[in-house]
Amino acid sequence: MPQRATKIVATLGPASSDPALLEAMIRAGVNVVRLNFSHGTAQDHIDRATLVREAAQRAGREVGIMADLQGPKIRVGKFAAGKVMLEPGQPFVLDASRTEPGDIDGVGLDYKELPRDVRAGDTLLLNDGLIVMTVNKVVGPAVHTTVKLGGELSNNKGINKQGGGLTAPALTAKDMEDIKTAMGLKADYVAVSFPKNATDMELARQLCNVAGEAVGHKPALIAKIERAEAIPELANILRVSDGIMVARGDLAVEVGNASVPGLQKHMIKMAREMDKVVITATQMMESMIVNPVPTRAEVSDVANAVLDGTDAVMLSAETAAGKYPLETVREMANICQEAEKAEYAELSADFKGKTFKRIDQSIAMGALFTAHHLGAKAIVALTESGSTALWMSRHNVRMPIYAVTSSLTAQRKMTLYRNVRPLLMDTSADRDTALADAEAYLKNKGIVQSGDVYAITVGEPMGQPGGTNTLKICRAA
Ligand code: PGA
Ligand code: MN
Repeated sequence: MPQRATKIVATLGPASSDPALLEAMIRAGVNVVRLNFSHGTAQDHIDRATLVREAAQRAGREVGIMADLQGPKIRVGKFAAGKVMLEPGQPFVLDASRTEPGDIDGVGLDYKELPRDVRAGDTLLLNDGLIVMTVNKVVGPAVHTTVKLGGELSNNKGINKQGGGLTAPALTAKDMEDIKTAMGLKADYVAVSFPKNATDMELARQLCNVAGEAVGHKPALIAKIERAEAIPELANILRVSDGIMVARGDLAVEVGNASVPGLQKHMIKMAREMDKVVITATQMMESMIVNPVPTRAEVSDVANAVLDGTDAVMLSAETAAGKYPLETVREMANICQEAEKAEYAELSADFKGKTFKRIDQSIAMGALFTAHHLGAKAIVALTESGSTALWMSRHNVRMPIYAVTSSLTAQRKMTLYRNVRPLLMDTSADRDTALADAEAYLKNKGIVQSGDVYAITVGEPMGQPGGTNTLKICRAA
């Protein structure tokens, strides 16, 4: 049982699709695998999900699956030569009506609405901000620009507008189809790209629920915060989502690199306060795409996200297309674990100014507080939905929270929760039997030994979500 509290999300791709390698990555610490719906067909995703479930089983670990929808990634079309080299000062035309492949003078657009969304004076950032263009004029479907910052521009690279304001809806027709695929493979999490507001997330929720109903599946929803417009809407977005991703790649392009670290802290804090989960993403170990060791700055970046209180840190190209996917996971796990040692946990400060009005939540907080002061070995939550474990995990305690559930869906959802080790166990309808079974199970797993004190929460009647009403302090027999 790994003692690391912070979870690792790894993106699956060509570099990590070998079954044995994926299994090794899971053993090394991957908790959630991200399927990137920007690449591949529906069948590819179904096959990848099977690959993940099988590798997890061989590794003996439960792993969550996150389906990351492509969203309205606003992109240029293709080039005749696959790419062009743009020079500063040169004119370049982004033309929605262009059908022939692009060249040094201009290129077509996947996103046909661009000419409507921009005007003279706007700044466009392409390829994650590596290329910068100023809009001179818009003539019908053609956006005439001057290149400010040149470089290589290749097929289907993304376009952002500085300051935000592109009108593309968050859920495209493709996303709606992909949601069906994601529900078919029972993705535990669905990540929505570029939501502007709560309404975008509510629509995604509806689509997931409708598509999920056929297979009896309800995913958790992650809002990727990567648009300037989403920042003032953060509280509203959080309210209707299960969590957020600090999607630093696109966000940095829209709001400027320098604003991102502050926004990251703000987002993590707000998510935790609202009992939501948060993933910190993009370029965390970027140099390990090509190097076997990270830079010092990357080590600090991962460690600081841990100290900010993120539930999970995410790997993108590092594991999807990099040369050292396994080494990257190992390094990241190690950095997280070391950073957690430096974490200063003052539980009572967390409780200041807070009131708990729900019975189940009060029991969860009581368990935390009691276990913390007693110096208990572990906190255990017998939980149906996982919400007890979620509440507990929003606070800094140095002891692990073992969430025992009979629901595979709940177990997989909890793979993302910081400091929660989700365990699957059939729970008896009789409370005393369930408690005895839980202790036997924990002892069997080596989590508690004879004489160890642990706090356990349980609900009556058993097996109903939201019913937690009992806290018991036990000394293992
Ligand atoms: P992406 O999202 O990797 O799907 O673009 C994350 C980000 O923008 O940081
Ligand atoms: Mn993005």
